[in-house]
Amino acid sequence: MGKPSAEELTRAIRQKALALGFAAVGVAPAVTPQGISRFYRWLAQGYAGQMHYLTDRAEAYAHPRFVLQGVRSLVVLAQPYRTQEPQTPKPTQGRVSRYAWGVDYHRTVRRKLRQLVRLVKQLADPCQVRGVVDTAPLLERDFAQLAGLGWQGKNTLVLNRQLGSWFFLAVLLTDQELIYDPPTEKGHCGTCRACLDACPTQAFVAPGVLDSRRCISYLTIELRGPIPRELRSGLGQWVFGCDVCQEVCPWNRKAPTTPEPEFAPLPGMNPLELLELFELNEEGFRRRFGHTPLARPGREGMLRNAAVVLGNQRCEEAVPVLAQALKREGPVVREACVWALGQIATSEALQVLRQHALVETHPRVQAELQTVLNEKAGQRADPPAPWTPEPMTEPVPRAIDSHSTGANCEDKSWPN
Ligand code: SF4
Ligand code: SF4
Repeated sequence: MGKPSAEELTRAIRQKALALGFAAVGVAPAVTPQGISRFYRWLAQGYAGQMHYLTDRAEAYAHPRFVLQGVRSLVVLAQPYRTQEPQTPKPTQGRVSRYAWGVDYHRTVRRKLRQLVRLVKQLADPCQVRGVVDTAPLLERDFAQLAGLGWQGKNTLVLNRQLGSWFFLAVLLTDQELIYDPPTEKGHCGTCRACLDACPTQAFVAPGVLDSRRCISYLTIELRGPIPRELRSGLGQWVFGCDVCQEVCPWNRKAPTTPEPEFAPLPGMNPLELLELFELNEEGFRRRFGHTPLARPGREGMLRNAAVVLGNQRCEEAVPVLAQALKREGPVVREACVWALGQIATSEALQVLRQHALVETHPRVQAELQTVLNEKAGQRADPPAPWTPEPMTEPVPRAIDSHSTGANCEDKSWPN
């Protein structure tokens, strides 16, 4: 049997990808991505924060040959992950971004990619082929657009008219020639700016330009060290990631749920019990979350995030747990606990802080204690009102209202 033609190989890959559960498949030529200059400008502005894996490999993003030598074609694949709807967290519970409710998606998607790699090798050997998900220096969103999968919305994510944005992107690179799909030429955000207006930490510096250093996803997952003071209240109930700019997007109203069983939510992730986190030692944390995306920030990062959320919830019930954490956790977690106790600000919480100030030795935590105690000394004795959970109805900012009537939108094809 000879080598398949470009048409035959493209068709075989597409069929197999759809059979594996990818919901959309697009094929693009291996070229310098259109957004490369924008990406370099974004890096130069410092918007990547501590994500040094982007800056360290900046040059490699200029062409996919740095991911696969001799590459000619990229197959871009969309794997939906929407499952159940988010539950309203009660006090002592925190919200986890939808993509992280199940086991780490890299495993599932990589397994599917391996099957596609095998197929191409069977059909077209000798050939070069490699599957990547997230970890290679590749502007996947640019290639998704070039492959006709959708446009990059003002929230920076790829939006597909059928799938919305609740999907992972994966890419198969090969040195084989394939038949390319027409690119997505036109965006369909129209005059909508729901995502920009709804962002709790004002992380968008312009439509389609995200300052990651302000983004809750970055702050709770990628950032090592303390969360900047001025952004802590913006976290609200988000203990891992944030979905706000997707939840408000009208293109996600009718996004399908995934048939992939491996993305089914694990028990206790939607929402997550925050006080239980403090009971886990490193080994316990690894056992419970080692196979999930929560392993990325690790135990220290998750305790830091949990403390901030408990502070935002003014959760009196958390005071004894935060007090214990002050005795045994590292400075990053202690700093967050001090802030949280200052937010809770009951007489018990303030007493814990005053006692801890006598023994704290770390300069950052000492400074936080000083700030909190000074703030409280300048305030009336009444603690702030306890937090009550917001009902979990889909957020509908005014911009969306006007879209649903078509009054504020150039694009008349909004999903209803
Ligand atoms: S994920 Fe959340 S914090 Fe980040 S840009 Fe979107 S809405 Fe803002
Ligand atoms: S919320 Fe509106 S502006 Fe933002 S990505 Fe969705 S359609 Fe575009």
